[in-house]
Amino acid sequence: MATFHIWTLGCQMNQADSLKLAAGLERLGYHPVEDDTAADLVVINTCSVRQHAEDRAYGRLGILKQRRVEGSTAKIVVMGCMVGPKTDDLRRRFPVVDEWARPQQFDGILAMAAEARDASDGELGSLLAGGMTRTYSLPKGPTAYVPVIHGCDKFCTYCIVPLRRGREDSRPVDDILDEVRFLAEHGVREVTLLGQTVEAYGHDLAERPDLATLFEGIDAIDGVKRVRFLTSYPKDMTGRIIDAVADQPKVCEYFNIPVQSGSDSMLERMRRGYTLAEFEERVARIRTRMPDAAIVTDVIVGCPGETDEEFADTVALIERTQFDTIHVAAYSPRPGTFAHRNMADDVPREVKKARLQVIEGLHAASATRINQRLLNQTVEVLVESEQDGRSTGRTRRGQLVHFDATNRIGDLVRVTVDQVTPWSLQGRVAGTLSFAVL
Ligand code: SF4
Repeated sequence: MATFHIWTLGCQMNQADSLKLAAGLERLGYHPVEDDTAADLVVINTCSVRQHAEDRAYGRLGILKQRRVEGSTAKIVVMGCMVGPKTDDLRRRFPVVDEWARPQQFDGILAMAAEARDASDGELGSLLAGGMTRTYSLPKGPTAYVPVIHGCDKFCTYCIVPLRRGREDSRPVDDILDEVRFLAEHGVREVTLLGQTVEAYGHDLAERPDLATLFEGIDAIDGVKRVRFLTSYPKDMTGRIIDAVADQPKVCEYFNIPVQSGSDSMLERMRRGYTLAEFEERVARIRTRMPDAAIVTDVIVGCPGETDEEFADTVALIERTQFDTIHVAAYSPRPGTFAHRNMADDVPREVKKARLQVIEGLHAASATRINQRLLNQTVEVLVESEQDGRSTGRTRRGQLVHFDATNRIGDLVRVTVDQVTPWSLQGRVAGTLSFAVL
């Protein structure tokens, strides 16, 4: 029996790509294995957003190279954001790799996999002739990611994504809704619509649908109880989208809007395409329509030339806004980007580290305050896992909740919160809203 193992680094989009590749490989007769030493085909799905993620991929490639020296015959594939038009260097360093594939370019991998196990031409032919587009992966639980738009047109100066994932490319509405129906039939209760800039969805399609169009389509699909969407781009977040989130009951009041910096001069150097005032206007509009909405953001500290004053502006924004979650990272220059070519990485490492810690401290403080407000409140939780009588799930606002009860995975339950930490809630079941029909 031919086997495969996929190791995924990076964002939700990569996780979705890995599941799609897995579905294609399974159609060719391959079976997934947990242990990569037992796989005939090992795939590393890489991330280039930060040096640390690339270093982890190099580490794994080193191990695979050594195994090959010791006689392993497993085929090795590298896919994802580390693979681009200018990655000849990488190919030279790791001749042990059998196939290189850019994000979503599955054809070469499938052809190699089919050849390696002598799969029937018919199945491979159907996958390569467009069957992959409609090959949906079986869900692993009650939640699933659904990519709706690939690529990014924004070209922020520090970011490698547009260079590796290409320009914005939306999937047709029908294809997305077919996939959501398939997922619902296989037990999925919550879908997260994915895009690097998800509100850009549809601008490149003839009928000009948008995210609100997708929300309406999913509203009519039985079984799906919740919809989320990631990642927002402040400038693309129109009033229509904010209103659609407020008006569609299935859509969770959860916004992931990266601000990246609280300083206009820094935002300009990042070429983010909006001012701080515009960002804050979006936040105000969300809070007017949905006072309890969760607002999550991303911040990069130590970008080229970031002064103490610019950093202080970011701190002030965080104190004003009280974000639910802050994903913070220190700037790391990515070869090929505008910033790498034209801007000195001039903020010392210890300054970056100190700024990172300040933001992490602010995050912990605001997460504690926000979670404490939920003490003795009852929240809606979708049960995502269950072990030894303990269930775990998430609220509509994305908070992790642990509680003592044996509900079925996929049930929607009401939980009264009796303990909080900055990162999770604990409680007891107060009732079941809907049972999973799996
Ligand atoms: S919006 Fe900017 S940061 Fe986000 S993926 Fe596009 S280029 Fe990168």
